[in-house]
Amino acid sequence: MAAWEENVRKVTPYTPGEQPGRADIIKLNTNENPYPPAPGVTRVLRELDAGILRRYPDPTADVLVSALSEYYHVPKQQIFVGVGSDDVLAMSFLTFFNGKNPILFPDITYSFYDVWAELYRIPYECQPLDGQFEIRTEDYLGRPCGGIVIPNPNAPTGAEKDLAELEKIIAGNPGVIVIIDEAYIDFGGKSAISLVPRYDNLLVVQTFSKSRSLAGMRIGYAFGNEKLIKYLNDVKYSFNSYTMNTVTAAMGAEAIRDDGYFRETVGKVIATRERTKEDLRRLGFRFTDSKANFLFASHPKCTAKELFEALKKEGIYVRYFAKPRIDNYLRISIGTDQEMEALVAFLEKYLGENL
Ligand code: PMP
Repeated sequence: MAAWEENVRKVTPYTPGEQPGRADIIKLNTNENPYPPAPGVTRVLRELDAGILRRYPDPTADVLVSALSEYYHVPKQQIFVGVGSDDVLAMSFLTFFNGKNPILFPDITYSFYDVWAELYRIPYECQPLDGQFEIRTEDYLGRPCGGIVIPNPNAPTGAEKDLAELEKIIAGNPGVIVIIDEAYIDFGGKSAISLVPRYDNLLVVQTFSKSRSLAGMRIGYAFGNEKLIKYLNDVKYSFNSYTMNTVTAAMGAEAIRDDGYFRETVGKVIATRERTKEDLRRLGFRFTDSKANFLFASHPKCTAKELFEALKKEGIYVRYFAKPRIDNYLRISIGTDQEMEALVAFLEKYLGENL
């Protein structure tokens, strides 16, 4: 090892899902939305005058923050925006989790949380989900901790936690910041945004990547009280003032303004999810009652690894995690009806031939 390597900040990075280049793949592995973004987004791109890119962007991304403020009825001073919710979450870890006590999050959850904790040298403890893959409220109460992160719905399980239970966790930990990661909330969950005015330790994080079909654009945002957002911005401006570029901010604002399109596409994803649940149940799969744009499914007679590989050979990509407790589950993103029908038809044929 070279001498300089001793001082390298060594980390084990997060592993994103595969992004195959081939167009003929049925891609159900990264929870993307199967529908295009709102028509206004395309209009912004078409009418783009590249000349505007000569200037730095507005560091406050006011066009986007204003659109969010209007849509969610939250004052602008209570909104933070970033390059995907990954950026918002990473900034939040850096800003708020600076104590000696461990931060808490579930053992089965978004696998970026422990990566950020390791990167920033934040002590953490994972709280095991129960046998039904549910978050136990009591695991987050009555003990000193440095902060809490709860994804709702959780990933990769899709399970939603009742808002009243979440409120107990937020109210029971007034001395630390509680982050609710709502990446999938628009697909049928109940948002904690309504709690923001009542709790000064609450940060609610959302994204344009799933319900607004803009994963490639990278837009995330958070709601919290004014003081909390000010602290977040102070850290952001100490790191990179221009996280949100001019084009992205304009496209994000267009996506937010088109509520009709948003409701229509989210409604279609939910309907397809519920139909797919029926189909998979018929084939003998077991799964959590997902409120997200994916299912977390297991078959009692065929291992998830085998199915994952057979599906991949067929050009159908789903996500498989070779991790304790979840290594017999497939996480299947909800695509179009047609894509899900192709998935179900293949599984039916495969299980028929191999069981
Ligand atoms: N939170 C959760 C629970 C997620 O699954 C994801 C998507 N990988 C994110 C946050 C980050 O999404 P993005 O950075 O695209 O907003």
